[in-house]
Amino acid sequence: MAITAGRPDVVPDGPLNPAVVFASTYHAGGPVAYGRDGNPTWDAFEAALGALEGGEALAFASGMAAVAAVLETLPVGAAIVLPRDGYTGTRALIEEAVDGRWEMRAVDVVDTQATLDACDGASLLWIESPTNPKMDVADIAALAAGAHDRGAVVAVDNTYATPLVQRPLRLGADMVVHSVTKLLSGHSDVVMGAVVARGAFVPALRLQRSLHGAVPGPMESYLALRGLRTLPVRLERAQANAAELAARLAKHPAVERVRYPGLVDDPGHERARAQMTGWGSMLAFDVRGGADAAEAVARSTRLIVHATSLGGIETTMERRHRWAREDLTPPQLLRVSVGCEDVEDLWDDLTHALRIGCGDIST
Ligand SMILES: *Cc1c(COP(=O)(O)O)cnc(C)c1O
Repeated sequence: MAITAGRPDVVPDGPLNPAVVFASTYHAGGPVAYGRDGNPTWDAFEAALGALEGGEALAFASGMAAVAAVLETLPVGAAIVLPRDGYTGTRALIEEAVDGRWEMRAVDVVDTQATLDACDGASLLWIESPTNPKMDVADIAALAAGAHDRGAVVAVDNTYATPLVQRPLRLGADMVVHSVTKLLSGHSDVVMGAVVARGAFVPALRLQRSLHGAVPGPMESYLALRGLRTLPVRLERAQANAAELAARLAKHPAVERVRYPGLVDDPGHERARAQMTGWGSMLAFDVRGGADAAEAVARSTRLIVHATSLGGIETTMERRHRWAREDLTPPQLLRVSVGCEDVEDLWDDLTHALRIGCGDIST
């Protein structure tokens, strides 16, 4: 599906790939009419992502535009249940909303019962799994069923896992949100987002997109689709690298704890096994020696890029606690977005950086 969905019709001498259609207006008489309401290059990307997630995809200008479109469908005063550990932008958007427009109920999504208790009277349960950056794993099917019983709509941010290893709509979610900026486009050169949904959610979200105007450019849509074509091979390689690095880091003397659901003793391992078909390419680890040592490790790599964001073909690493709203993230935690480099090169680089950052304890 990643490779074949969203192709143009097969006609002699027709191109294999969709055209990048730069258009603000279309000849009258059709259903689209204007460039804020539709674009053939979005359609191609949406067909491919929709096929992978099992719903109808809508492309947005960024992941945050996609998050905002979902929130905008909620009434004033709506209560939103969301993970305490999760993408900071989503939490910031709800907290900063003018005049206490929404009520935020932050929960530990690992705790299914506590999360469901918080859903009483709530309009939306927002789930991330694995969470960014602590790699907590939520029981998506149990949470979706319980939230529905309590009358809440369920949205899952599937940026970390991608539809290749986790399909939230099949697990009972109503909407799936993506930062396409990350693994789906995969080359750290596009900012874009998407929501995938079914039924009545689709026209509601389409209306949000048209009226708020958070539409992607045709060039970004093309680059995102081009990236999506190679997601299966990129993810396979990145996941294999991540699993290997996680296993080696777990035995490293300068590492206090590795957070990766593929490790058998990870608290999220059994849940991840039940709802994911892979472990993903994200991991985090806590450095012995605290924040200063961790920061020194992050600054001492030569191959691994010291930068924020994730999901590119290159490995990136950062200490998340350095950001605002990451006060609950352990100060010594380093988040690693594992890429497609040679795993031995990555390991050499990590051990070198740990030696510089942690000194004696690393040997
Ligand atoms: C990056 C990210 C977002 C926001 O997406 P942008 O494309 O940066 O707007 C949302 N959720 C998660 C999990 C992310 O990593």
